[in-house]
Amino acid sequence: MADEMLGRLARYLRFFGHDVRYARGLDDLEIARQADSEGRILVTRERDLARRSRDSLLLRSAEIGGQLREVRRAHPEASYVPVFDRCAECNTLLTRWVPPDRSPWPDDVPADRVRAGLEVFECPGCSRRFWEGSHAARIRSQVSDWFSEVVGP
Ligand SMILES: [Zn+2]
Repeated sequence: MADEMLGRLARYLRFFGHDVRYARGLDDLEIARQADSEGRILVTRERDLARRSRDSLLLRSAEIGGQLREVRRAHPEASYVPVFDRCAECNTLLTRWVPPDRSPWPDDVPADRVRAGLEVFECPGCSRRFWEGSHAARIRSQVSDWFSEVVGP
C-alpha cells in the first residue's frame, strides 16, 4: 500500500509485478486500516502514518531511485525486474488483447506491427492497451541505473 505521496513508486513497483494499492484520497486511519485488513505493507514517508499500521516501511528518500533502493533493502526477497504484467495505472493484471474479427481495430493499436507478430496486452480494469516499445526500454534502463548507483562510501 503506497500512500498518496508515493504514486510514482507505486507505478514502478507495479512494473515489477507487485500488487500495489495506491491510497489516494483516504485519511491516515483509513489507509492504515485497509493496509492491515488486506495484509499489505504500508509504504510511506510519514512517520505518524507508518506507526498506525501493523506492517509498514518508512522511507527517507524523496526521489524515486532512492525509494526503490530502500524498498529493495527492506525486502530483498521480492523481484525488481520489470515484467509489465500488471497495469501501472490501476494495478489490474493484464490479459492478452485479441484482435476483433469483424469490428475495426482501435486507433491506438499499431496494426502493422500486430500483424507482424507484436503482442498487445489489455487492462481489464481500465481498458488501456500496452505493448513492448520504447517506453518499456526506457523503464528497464532507468531501473538498472537506479539499482546500480553506488550510494555512500
Ligand atoms: Zn488499468
